[in-house]
Amino acid sequence: QKERLQQIADIAPVTVDQKLVRLAANINTEKEVEHALRSGALGVGLFRTEFLYMDRDSAPSEEEQFDVYRRVAEKLGGKPLIIRTLDIGGDKRLDYMALAKEDNPFLGYRAIRISLDRTELFRTQLRAVLRASHYGNIKMMYPMIASLEEVRAANAHLDSVKRELTAEGIPYNAAMEVGITIEVPAAVMIADALAKEAAFFSIGTNDLVQYVLAVDRMNETIAHLYEPFHPAVLRLLNMTVEAAKNAGIPVAVCGELAGDVKALPIWLGLGIEELSISVQSILQVKDRLLQSDQAECRKLLEELLKLPTAKEIHERLSEAERQYS
Ligand code: PEP
Ligand code: MG
Repeated sequence: QKERLQQIADIAPVTVDQKLVRLAANINTEKEVEHALRSGALGVGLFRTEFLYMDRDSAPSEEEQFDVYRRVAEKLGGKPLIIRTLDIGGDKRLDYMALAKEDNPFLGYRAIRISLDRTELFRTQLRAVLRASHYGNIKMMYPMIASLEEVRAANAHLDSVKRELTAEGIPYNAAMEVGITIEVPAAVMIADALAKEAAFFSIGTNDLVQYVLAVDRMNETIAHLYEPFHPAVLRLLNMTVEAAKNAGIPVAVCGELAGDVKALPIWLGLGIEELSISVQSILQVKDRLLQSDQAECRKLLEELLKLPTAKEIHERLSEAERQYS
């Protein structure tokens, strides 16, 4: 099976009816890039930079981050690299940041909220990303955006850091694309406004599901309630794509659901441009993609959107899957 899958690594990820869906990789560390490329990834759709900050006594310096971002971009040889700014908090802690203990960490001091509060930390990262952007095809995105103000505040820092670099004569890509993750239901509700100020959307289903269903993604006791195929999730996905299409910006999906073959008809039905997937799942998704028909998935999605329960959505998707066994 593994060998058979390896044979499709270099084939273009297109459906039977010739629709291209870019399959990219999620990576947590630099080391994963080689594996991603061997699996035929067309780029990195999510680089979780918080791993650079973890298991150490202090935050990585600008120089250290610059080196990593530049090397990853260069290893990708022109394929896009989407760097997500620090997404710490929630389940990920940093001892040296002395974060207060919170009753509800996933609803607390996390991701962009920390970056906009600890601005030296954020600006150091922005400088490193911008400097690396001169050496490869780098894009950047902000995690856990819940309001337009957050995007504007983050971009204000970005603009000011750009001015600093210009004044210092340090090269960077002034046109680097900046997108946002869609993982808070509020962002979906204002996606039309956000789409006007973001170059792209990347849907983080891991958090989107936990936030819309009010189900802590780490809590074993209620794990059975964590239901990615809940009709509410499907509607949010559909709304996000509609808003992006109206604004003419691309949408990717980077949560674990992007790597679940059962969800593939949903992505194809929605017309998602890119799926960013854990490296181990890329070839399995590609295998299924090569046998899928987008036009059929569009019809299937219409049906799915009308179903009122997760159970019925599961059943309909399982029925659709039978044609591949
Ligand atoms: C997500 O929330 O779906 C996501 C991709 O980000 P993370 O799992 O790092 O929170
Ligand atoms: Mg997330």
